[in-house]
Amino acid sequence: MSMTSGAAEAIVASGRHLDQKGLAHGTSGNISVRIGDTVLVTPTNSRLGALTEKRLSQVDLDGVRLAGPPPSKEAPLHLKLYRGRPDVTAVVHLHSTYCVAISCLLDLDSDDALPALTAYSLMRLGRVALVPFHPPGSAALADAVGIASFANRAMLLANHGSLVAATSLEAAIADAEELEETAKLTLLLRGLPVRLVPNEQAAALRAGTP
Ligand code: ZN
Repeated sequence: MSMTSGAAEAIVASGRHLDQKGLAHGTSGNISVRIGDTVLVTPTNSRLGALTEKRLSQVDLDGVRLAGPPPSKEAPLHLKLYRGRPDVTAVVHLHSTYCVAISCLLDLDSDDALPALTAYSLMRLGRVALVPFHPPGSAALADAVGIASFANRAMLLANHGSLVAATSLEAAIADAEELEETAKLTLLLRGLPVRLVPNEQAAALRAGTP
């Protein structure tokens, strides 16, 4: 099995998984995997639960289509992360409900958008940035993601959704799920007196983030 077909199989399985978890309604969300200088990415207007290995898009790091159908209009976000972070080999972007809800709240800290609620989320996600609103698919949004990605690999896009970059597709999927669960907890606890993980321990847990 070539690396490309292995990655294609993994993307299809991941799309189905995210759909089954209710994290990819309609044609929202996109997944990509980097293989050397090329990127396999979900095509435009596709349902993550109904992907097929032969109908994925293949582009180079500048977004030039090499094979398959036209890529997701949000592929520039993925490519920005790959160009800026050579360690990143998988990117997942979702419009999952709780992440979108949090991304619409006023007065979030753009460098630290989610509270330090659990050790696991701190270890998995590190600090979660809030990327300012720009229209989906715009160069301005890709540029804003590029800036946030210097210090963060998990992000909320304002009034839009989540974006995670990781060193494997498996990790990116787990991070996207953890981000959604942390967003859900944040909303469940909103308005209640909350004890956060103490600052020093939160920093140590985040520092262990790969
Ligand atoms: Zn989107």
